[in-house]
Amino acid sequence: MPNGHTHDAVTWFLVTPVALASWGVTQDVAGTAVLAGAFAFAGLMFSGDLDLPSAQYRRWGRLRWIWKPYQWVVPHRSVMSHGILLGPLGRLFYLTLVAVVLALLGIRAFSGHWQIPWTAFGAAVDLAAHLDDRAWVLVAFGLVGLWVGGASHSLADWGWSGVKRRARGR
Ligand SMILES: [Zn+2]
Repeated sequence: MPNGHTHDAVTWFLVTPVALASWGVTQDVAGTAVLAGAFAFAGLMFSGDLDLPSAQYRRWGRLRWIWKPYQWVVPHRSVMSHGILLGPLGRLFYLTLVAVVLALLGIRAFSGHWQIPWTAFGAAVDLAAHLDDRAWVLVAFGLVGLWVGGASHSLADWGWSGVKRRARGR
């Protein structure tokens, strides 16, 4: 596995070509900025290596413990964390789950009883329903950035393993 420094270098090295490609295809400056930001975030803080105590994991600072259960459940470099699609999707799902659990615990702590925050869920659904097309386009740019960032991490891991295997075979 390339170490954290190598992954960071790959991320910084790729962010410009990725941004240029996005701009070349879409001619959308704001969308490209969102995509490039999401790409860098994915490489530096949201990659498959959240499945172990990695540099990406430590960058979450005081919040890093939220990834502990993820590390217990997901074997390192399994398809669940490093799968091209499954990795980023799984982490988005996991992060949503953590937010919901924290919200429930917060309500419990402040009100003293368990209560499902239906109004908050309703407000979130309502907000999503009222996002205009432009906002959805930007969300899509962000998701593509996350996805490409996660995929480039996994490809770097696999490419590195291939090189090492070939070197050993010689
Ligand atoms: Zn990895």
